[in-house]
Amino acid sequence: MNVSTILQNKGSDVVTRTPDVTLNEIVQLLNEHKIGSVVIVENSGTVCGIVSERDVVNAIATRSGSVLDEPVSDCMTKNVFTCKREDTLEKLMAEMTEHRFRHLPVVEEGQLVGLVSIGDVVKQRIAEAEMEAAAMRDYITTG
Ligand code: AMP
Repeated sequence: MNVSTILQNKGSDVVTRTPDVTLNEIVQLLNEHKIGSVVIVENSGTVCGIVSERDVVNAIATRSGSVLDEPVSDCMTKNVFTCKREDTLEKLMAEMTEHRFRHLPVVEEGQLVGLVSIGDVVKQRIAEAEMEAAAMRDYITTG
């Protein structure tokens, strides 16, 4: 199973904003869409950052609530790890575990085509395990 399988199920919609929007706008988006991160893109569509709820907590804790009026570019992570449609779920899990993040934007030919979260990976892995168990039960009872 790979990233394509996940995108077929959840679609390719990603909540994005440009680096000039305020952190407050990001907070409203996280709440409104019940998501954990917003991908920051240039006007061209190229990914230039990611901001997650952890970044918001860190910014407010270390720089006070006034940080909400500042551009998101001040507190986003700029060195963004991305993945490709053909990447396996094992590879994604290894990257998320090693770097301690829960989101991976999917990029194809320089453009954002989706986002995979740790929740998407776990959901897919459970579906796979259930399919395997059902196939095994079928094999035992009919074989
Ligand atoms: P998360 O666990 O995804 O909420 O993010 C934890 C930290 O990692 C935050 O500082 C995020 O900005 C950062 N982060 C999240 N996803 C990525 C990614 N794909 N590449 C680089 N940093 C990320």
